[in-house]
Amino acid sequence: MSKVSIGLRGWRFDEEEVFTEDGELRPVDQVSADTRDRLVRLSVVAGQPCSACWLLHGDENLQECNVARVVYGEPLHEVILCDEHEVDFLYWYREEGGAQYRGEAEAFEEAFQEWFAAGNRAPDGYEGMEYVETAPDNVPQPDPDVEQDTLEDALAELDEEERERLETDFGDLDI
Ligand SMILES: [Zn+2]
Repeated sequence: MSKVSIGLRGWRFDEEEVFTEDGELRPVDQVSADTRDRLVRLSVVAGQPCSACWLLHGDENLQECNVARVVYGEPLHEVILCDEHEVDFLYWYREEGGAQYRGEAEAFEEAFQEWFAAGNRAPDGYEGMEYVETAPDNVPQPDPDVEQDTLEDALAELDEEERERLETDFGDLDI
């Protein structure tokens, strides 16, 4: 079964679970709860500023922030990053102990933000995630407008409480 990313790189889905044979996104009630949470969160965070840029510039200077291209972590505690800051994130994860927080959603998010906010960065020339550049053809590119509509429809179908939980403002950071 092949894995695909949707909207942002990082989170990977089983292609057969999220797409029909015609390449349409399945309704969220046909996928697992974990997949549903990730799809709904993707619809919220796609197009949002990079978490690291946001730490640097804040809400007052949002125009200075790059749009996030990749998502790591767990839904509601995701870290979304631009291409530039993904390298810092990968360095933290691999070399600065970030991997120990794997599976601890909240601690994972906070630990990276603390590390980054303290001024830590990957050294110059640190290599990013190579597989992403070597296999771009594996990521299907459904019509983005159709995809967005489908995700928004899915969001509208969730009950109120669930929607509020998943729409929690990602910028409400407590560090
Ligand atoms: Zn950034």
